Amino acid sequence: MGIVLVALLAGLVGLWLRFRPAPCLFIRLDITSSLHDPKVVSINPLNGDIKWQGKNKRQRSRVSGSGGAGFALAGERSFFFTVPWEGASGFFCYHDLRADNGQPISMDLYVLRRGGEILIGGVAQPRGAGFFVQKMNVLPGDRYQLRWRGSGRVFVGRPLLYRVLPVHERKTIVMLAADTLRGDQIDARVGDVAVAPFLASLCKESARFERCLSPSTWTLPSFASLFTARHEITHGLNSPGILDADQPFLVEAIADSFITVNFNGGCWMQFQSGFQRGFDIVREGGYFGERRTVSAKSLLEGSLDLLEAAEFPVTFLFLHTFQVHTPYAPPADLLRRLDPTHPALASGIFPVEPPAMTASLSEKEHYFRLYQAGVSVFDRETSRFFSGLKRTGLYAQTTFILFGDHGEAFGEHGTWEHGSSLFEEQTHIPLLIRFPAGQFAGKKVAMPVSLLDVFPTLLDWLKIPAPNVPLDGSSLMPILESGATRPVPVVSSLMNCWFEPAIPPILALTYPRYKIVVTFAAPKSGKDDIKAYDRQEDPREMQPLSSLPPAEWQQSLPIIRKFRAYLNQPQYKQRKLQGTDLDPELREQLKALGYL
Ligand SMILES: [Zn+2]
Repeated sequence: MGIVLVALLAGLVGLWLRFRPAPCLFIRLDITSSLHDPKVVSINPLNGDIKWQGKNKRQRSRVSGSGGAGFALAGERSFFFTVPWEGASGFFCYHDLRADNGQPISMDLYVLRRGGEILIGGVAQPRGAGFFVQKMNVLPGDRYQLRWRGSGRVFVGRPLLYRVLPVHERKTIVMLAADTLRGDQIDARVGDVAVAPFLASLCKESARFERCLSPSTWTLPSFASLFTARHEITHGLNSPGILDADQPFLVEAIADSFITVNFNGGCWMQFQSGFQRGFDIVREGGYFGERRTVSAKSLLEGSLDLLEAAEFPVTFLFLHTFQVHTPYAPPADLLRRLDPTHPALASGIFPVEPPAMTASLSEKEHYFRLYQAGVSVFDRETSRFFSGLKRTGLYAQTTFILFGDHGEAFGEHGTWEHGSSLFEEQTHIPLLIRFPAGQFAGKKVAMPVSLLDVFPTLLDWLKIPAPNVPLDGSSLMPILESGATRPVPVVSSLMNCWFEPAIPPILALTYPRYKIVVTFAAPKSGKDDIKAYDRQEDPREMQPLSSLPPAEWQQSLPIIRKFRAYLNQPQYKQRKLQGTDLDPELREQLKALGYL
């Protein structure tokens, strides 16, 4: 009898241990209802834009991430909160202080303990933005007070409260996007020299999707597809504008489980595209105003500094860099490694425009080496980032996803750069997923997959339910776990390239062996141009087949009809007209990237 009781009790304890609610690791403080003054400042929830009336003119700012507040300060203002646990904790808050009179505005954190108040930490400056991080040991009965003093405008991001855990218990997910990184550069070599030796070595501890294709071939729709797991015709963001609020969004889907951080290179990635949704912390830039050669360096070092300083228990870190993008101007040491006779090494002058199609092979090759040396810069900085993750002790518990958003053409099919075709050189991107504990290390997947599969894959891996709306991507976990196949075809489209208005709408459907490319004719002006390629015989897609593969063609028809129908929608025609009215900041950044 006694043994039965003990066994029963042990069973109950076991059940409780298994199903007890996970301890709360972090909370976001609601400050909007008590601090934000809509009469003084307006914050656009779609793109984070803040507008307020300054001295005789309207001014703009941005609050970091979602859920912040802005208010006028004249004298003193406070916000009180308690921490729903005890022990080692962290407080994190973005601040942007704008004094009216040149005198510093202070933002201080106090603990109210046993009838007294103790100053824990703070910042004071007349003008400036930054991240305020404070560690504290929470005792029973503690109350906390954030207090501002001075005169002017105050903007604060939504504050985070979190437990500080031992480093081996912290979980990190890193998504690193190398804008414009071609899939074939991971293990490319020039003679005996590896272009990206670190990324090549990373394949050994990652699952590698050898044929990952980009959903589009320019940044805005490609990233919108990554974040929504939807095709361009479903998310609709293929001209300057904001992602519709009713679209699903990867970061919102995981924001209950992770503190979410976004460091990006600006331009299409900046707030005004609406990609800050669900993020607690956003830093954009790290490209503009800095020499191109330090773009990835500043991004990766900055994000590592943040992880080290904040010590979040669970972090989702989204990183994006334009390091590999035009204008190509790599540092001499990495260019010399790949191309010791490159003319830029002697002259110090880097070409702004690509060579003519009729230029000599060696001139074209020199141009390609500039791009590849940029890949080497990215590779070197990623390697340093990994060393940093190892040094901090976070690496063992880190899931790392590396990808590109589209490729880059170097004269193949008569094009340069990207956003002008859907052939291999512009659509083939890298996708590596490094799981903790060596899971799926070295696994190679040869079947075609898409960047818009990343969202469902990540949710599947984290056991987080997918949003209750249709997604166009598929989880890749069944492929890794049981060798299942992904539904085909993989769809890439270029329905509206904003900076290449002369390019007609194109659709590419990739099957394991064949690829079908449809170039849509303008209405009433003739027939669509449809070509098929046998990727087994012709991996560079140079020779169209004389007839379409019948099974793949039948499977393609409904998809082609769907995309054709999109072209006839009034919203599409409307969108085509947008884009002339660009935000001045975006215009500057587009210029720096060589678009205007
Ligand atoms: Zn891009």
